[in-house]
Amino acid sequence: MKNFKGFRVFTLLFLAIPLMVFSQDYGRQRTEMVESQIRNRGIRDAATLRAMRQVPRHLYIPENQQRWAYDDRPLPIGYGQTISQPYIVGFMTEIIKPHKDFRVLEIGTGSGYQAAVLAEIVDHVYTIEIVEPLGLQAKNTLEKNYNNVSVKIADGYYGWEEHAPFDAIVVTAAAEYIPPPLIEQLKDGGRMIIPVGSAFRVQQLMLIEKNGDEISSRSLMPVRFVPFTSGN
Ligand code: SAH
Repeated sequence: MKNFKGFRVFTLLFLAIPLMVFSQDYGRQRTEMVESQIRNRGIRDAATLRAMRQVPRHLYIPENQQRWAYDDRPLPIGYGQTISQPYIVGFMTEIIKPHKDFRVLEIGTGSGYQAAVLAEIVDHVYTIEIVEPLGLQAKNTLEKNYNNVSVKIADGYYGWEEHAPFDAIVVTAAAEYIPPPLIEQLKDGGRMIIPVGSAFRVQQLMLIEKNGDEISSRSLMPVRFVPFTSGN
C-alpha cells in the first residue's frame, strides 16, 4: 500500500515536472521574443510591448506549429493562411498609436493573435475574417480570454458599418487597392495600416491618415502578406 502511494506520487511528479518546465518555457520564449525581435528593433510603445509580453502567442497557433510560436517568422495556420511575424504585429500595433479609448477594426482575423494584442490595449476590437472555419476558431479562443472583441465572418472589403467610425483600422491581408468603404469608416483624425500590392509579390505597408477631406498616405516598408480575397 505504502509502495503503491509512493508510486502514485512518483508518477504524478514524473508527469507534472516536464509539463511545468514546458509551459514556463513559453513564458521565457515570449519575454525573449519581445526583447530581441520587438524592442531591439525599435518598437518602443509601452502599451504595445506590454500587450505582446502578455498574449500567449502559442495558443493562437495550431498545435503542430506551437513549438515555433515565438520564432522570428510567420507560421501557417491552415487554409493557406498565416499568422504574421511577431515584429510585424508589433509594428502595426504601435503605428496606429493605440489608446485605451479606441475602437479598432481589424480585417483578416486569421489566428486571432493581432486582435488579442489590440484587445489588451484598446476599448474594443471588431475583427472580420472571410474564411469561416478560421474565424470560428479565432472567435472561440478570443471569447475565452476577452470580452472586448467582436468577430464577424464576412468579406472585410465592406468594413463593419454599424460600429463605424473607427479610431484605427488594421488590415492584415494585401489588397490591390485600399477599399473605399474602409476609408469611409475611418474616423476624422484616424489611422489605417494596410499592405497594398499584388498577391504573392512584395507589397508596401501603407499608413493612411484621414484629416477632414484630406487623405494622406505613406509607404513604410516592403512586406509580404497573404492576399485580400474579396468577392466584390
Ligand atoms: N491578423 C492575422 C493575420 C492573418 S493572415 C493574425 O494575427 O493571425 C490574413 C487573413 O486575412 C487570412 O486569415 C485571410 O483569410 C483573411 N482575409 C483575406 N481576405 C479577406 C477579406 N476580404 N475579408 C476578411 N478577411 C480576409
